[in-house]
Amino acid sequence: MHFAAPIQVRDLSDMGQLVGKPGETLTETLRRTLLEMIVFGYFDRGFRLYPDKLAEQFGVSQTPVREALMRLASEGYIEAVQRRGYHIRTPSAKQVLDLWQVRLGLELAAGEIAIERLEAGTLLSGQLDQLDHIRAQLEADPDHIEHRRKLGLNTEFHQHIVALSGNDMLISIYSGIQMQLLGEWIQRGLQSWRKRLDNEAEEHAAIVAALRARDRDAYSAAIRIHIGRSLKDALGDLNSQEQRPD
Ligand SMILES: [Zn+2]
Repeated sequence: MHFAAPIQVRDLSDMGQLVGKPGETLTETLRRTLLEMIVFGYFDRGFRLYPDKLAEQFGVSQTPVREALMRLASEGYIEAVQRRGYHIRTPSAKQVLDLWQVRLGLELAAGEIAIERLEAGTLLSGQLDQLDHIRAQLEADPDHIEHRRKLGLNTEFHQHIVALSGNDMLISIYSGIQMQLLGEWIQRGLQSWRKRLDNEAEEHAAIVAALRARDRDAYSAAIRIHIGRSLKDALGDLNSQEQRPD
């Protein structure tokens, strides 16, 4: 019941260091590093990415930097502009909707499987305690919690629900959708998230209560309310991002 390490949430000061992982090509390391820098707001709004300048900054040749930038462009994170530079894109409403629909489907399935496992005795109710532990950290200091920490804990909460399914394929697909990355990307520079902490706390409590009660209908209702509200807010955030000057 172990999750692959959650997407790392780091200080901006740690960012921009090229640290390869075992088995990773230089292009892959560059792509991963640049993606973190993009979604966690390392670059100012309106910043242009140029292969020659990035190659110089990282101390590598231009070819892998160009390849990494082309991959990020094909994934929709950046877009080519004149003179071979790139600018950072804001996700489209469709990208957000697609992601949230997949997320809802996976979390519904995970909760149902977790309830089956609780009934079969292959999952013990004590294994739900970690969810309360994460909630307590999320709710400890709503006026001062930092955005990065809040997103990290929220991701942990949802990843743990998926992990309770014990289904490796589900876990792997879920970690691949990079929910947190897109969440941070949309909310870059906004403060609207703090006002939602109370609602989120209530919704998380309802999700955990339904799992403890092994109540499929209550779980399904609670997760739909939570993810539906989160989608509405994400689209609202997107809308206000589009209205800011670049
Ligand atoms: Zn949540």
